[in-house]
Parts: sequence; structure tokens; C-alpha cells
Amino acid sequence: AGATRAVLSARGLAKRFGSFLAVNNVDIDVHHGRIHALIGPNGAGKSTVFNLLTKFLKPTAGRIVLDGTDITAMDPACVARMGMVRSFQISATFGDMTLLDNVRVALQRPNSLYHQFWRSLTSLDRLNRQAMELLDRVGLADMAHLRANNLSYGRKRALEIATTLALEPRVLLLDEPLAGMGQEDVEHMASLIKSVSRDCALLMVEHNLKVVGDISDEITVLQRGEILARGDYATVSADPRVREAYMGS
Ligand code: ADP
Ligand code: MG
Repeated sequence: AGATRAVLSARGLAKRFGSFLAVNNVDIDVHHGRIHALIGPNGAGKSTVFNLLTKFLKPTAGRIVLDGTDITAMDPACVARMGMVRSFQISATFGDMTLLDNVRVALQRPNSLYHQFWRSLTSLDRLNRQAMELLDRVGLADMAHLRANNLSYGRKRALEIATTLALEPRVLLLDEPLAGMGQEDVEHMASLIKSVSRDCALLMVEHNLKVVGDISDEITVLQRGEILARGDYATVSADPRVREAYMGS
């Protein structure tokens, strides 16, 4: 019922490192306006799937389709221009620059849709206004003129979200967006992710199962490179195989 076509879709994904099969036969669909969480024990293959989807790794087998276009053979820069944006686990902000300048740089990146817009208007006002809107969206507008270095870790990651939004992602992939955060920052980031997901298709790798349960629409559980379970949180968390994988018995 109400099945919309996935924005990002992978079928039969596999990745071999030498003789080791790190990912095997993984299917994933990411839909507009929804959050898909990829979870599983350490070594399950989550980061490998993430890197396959963003084209940082070449699949051994399988097919990846973005907005109806087969991107299996494309390079990361090319899929980025098509609207697939990823965050990195390590903060990628410029510490010596103000928050406003960080976002302005992002807005002027060549694969930003705003870039075209900005060049045609040549209006500094407009650029500043858009940068402030993005900072406001992540709750950092009142700190626009601080240097990024002065931010707490959690706020740096919120700034990073603002810079990824500057690229107007159609698909946003977040690798452990809550890692290393205190409770307050976790709550702020979780609601930010939820709000951002309304305008894109969002896939996140995340260890915080409480937040995954709170905000995800769909969950895929990986174990030893294969899909162990998938569905909504109630379905997945009731699955005895998932319980076993997490209890480590
Ligand atoms: P996760 O992110 O779920 O913890 P990874 O995707 O990082 O898991 O790793 C899955 C498995 O693949 C692990 O056993 C890991 O050691 C192995 N692996 C990952 N990257 C490489 C690589 N570049 N070369 C060899 N083995 C790798
Ligand atoms: Mg990982």
C-alpha cells in the first residue's frame, strides 16, 4: 500500500576483500521523507555497505540505482553531483572559520545547487541570508560569528549537518551521527535528523538503538555481511535472531 519508488535502491550488493566476503547479497531501499537505519554488531559490514552506496568502494556484485539511474559504475564525485551527500564520522568543519563562513563555503561548492543560483544573482546578501537560514535550521544562528573551534562536539556535528544541507541532498547518508555525544546533544541531533529527513531520503548507520527506534521508519539489521532482519522497530526488535545477535549468545 502506498509504495513509492525508492530514491536510492541497491540489489544484491556484495563486497569481497581478498577471499573474505564482507558484504553478501544486500538489498536496500531508501525512500523520500523517510529514515532508514542500518544497524548490526561490529564488523557486520555497515560501513562497507555505506561506502558501496556512496561509491567510495566498488561492489564485487550488485546494482545501485539513484533516481532511476544506474550508478553502479559511477565515481563518488559524479553521484555527489546527482544529489547523494554523505557525512563523515570525523568532523569536517573548518575550525578557524566562523560558522557563517563554514556554511558560505559549502553553499559555494561546485556541486551545490545554490552555487548556480548564487553565481547568477551575484548577491552577497542572498548568500548570507541562505547561510543564516541553514544555521537557524540546525539551531546555531545565534553563534554564526563564533569560530567553529569554539563549539562543543555536538554542535560541530550540527554545523556539519548545515554544510551537508547546503548541497541540497536528495539522499543523505549519515555514518554514526550520534557517536561520542552526550545525552543533550543526542536529543538535539535526533530531532534535527528527523526534521532533515522530511526533505530527502535518509540512510544512517547508528549504534544508539533507542534513537534508531524513536526516529527510524525502516531498519535493516546486518550480521556477518548479510541481512539478518528488516522492518520497523517493533518487528526487528522482536525478532529472536536480532536479540541473539545483540545479546551475543
Ligand atoms: P561495521 O561497519 O559493521 O563494523 P565494516 O563494514 O567496517 O563493519 O567491516 C566488515 C568486515 O569487513 C569486517 O570484518 C572488516 O574487518 C572487514 N573489512 C572492512 N574493510 C576492509 C578492507 N578494506 N580490507 C579488508 N577487510 C575489510
Ligand atoms: Mg563501521
